[in-house]
Amino acid sequence: MNDPVIAAVTHAPWNLPLRQPFVTARGRKTVSQNLLITVTLAGGSRRWTGRGEASASLAWPDDAQPAMRQCLHALSPRLIGAPARRAWHDLREAWSAPNASPAALSAVECALATAEAAAAGLPLWRALASRMVGVATRPRPVMTSLTISAWPVSMAEAAARAAARRGFRRLKVKVTGANPDDDLARLMAVHRAAPRATLLVDANQGFPPRGAIAFARAMRLLRLPVALFEQPVPAADVEGMAQVARARVVPVAADESVRRPAEARRLLAEGGASVINLKLAKSGLLGAREIIRLARRARVDLMLGCMAESAVGLAPSVHLACGSGAFRYIDLDSHLLVDGPKTTAFRTRGPRLSVA
Ligand SMILES: [Mg+2]
Repeated sequence: MNDPVIAAVTHAPWNLPLRQPFVTARGRKTVSQNLLITVTLAGGSRRWTGRGEASASLAWPDDAQPAMRQCLHALSPRLIGAPARRAWHDLREAWSAPNASPAALSAVECALATAEAAAAGLPLWRALASRMVGVATRPRPVMTSLTISAWPVSMAEAAARAAARRGFRRLKVKVTGANPDDDLARLMAVHRAAPRATLLVDANQGFPPRGAIAFARAMRLLRLPVALFEQPVPAADVEGMAQVARARVVPVAADESVRRPAEARRLLAEGGASVINLKLAKSGLLGAREIIRLARRARVDLMLGCMAESAVGLAPSVHLACGSGAFRYIDLDSHLLVDGPKTTAFRTRGPRLSVA
């Protein structure tokens, strides 16, 4: 059979209400305004489709639906009729275009890879693990953390208690830096309600470097079981990330600081993090593959995270996590936070995610 070619690339708004307001240092949202993207491959009389979900993030307010659409309007006509290999070449170029929407490009890549796996008759976990880390073993279940927003203490405490009952052993707790005492009170409440859970504390860029170090020391004084302090300072402040990391109070993870491989290269060279939170939804498959390679070379651990995708958009990440075993931390909980469609692409039982 000849290489299948891209027959169609379509997109549609995919606005998903959140089950509870999502609150971070960057703002608050009650609906995730995403785009659902479908790529159809054709070979002879056969068709294979893959879906991807471009998710808007509070971290990148410029990369919302209008920017995603604009990027797709420029890209889609170039992809139609292209064999998959040429499409990947076009996608790589599109990341350098002035109108590049990382969210949209990431979703097209996920949709194309899903359609290609279907055309090749491969399970998605095998196709993605081979593509991204070079090997696929048998798929293994992974355990995800669950996010607790920067909510008032009583709400965070109730959510932590419910999460503990459902078996979650890692909780990602949002702090804002706006009022560190409130942040500490939330963390204490979460720890009280879920004493066996380790905490991944995510500041979403909320602190200045010295404030972040003081906050890390306060968490240590309170004996909170904090495994990671994620993105304590603004994304572009690589030296600030390195300052917090050098203080060695708690391991630092980079999220917003690393969207593109060049950012990973610079952050790793400066010693700005001991963990990178990789997300297919921010770096695409092309960028993520390069970031995985850089992190491994620097002996830095990886988290696989998500934005606010439904189970549809999350499926490629779950398959990659289960098929590759390459991630020390799994933070793939967005399908539990948004009110979206169910999927048969993977299974969720409490914190346990698995693929067939
Ligand atoms: Mg984060």
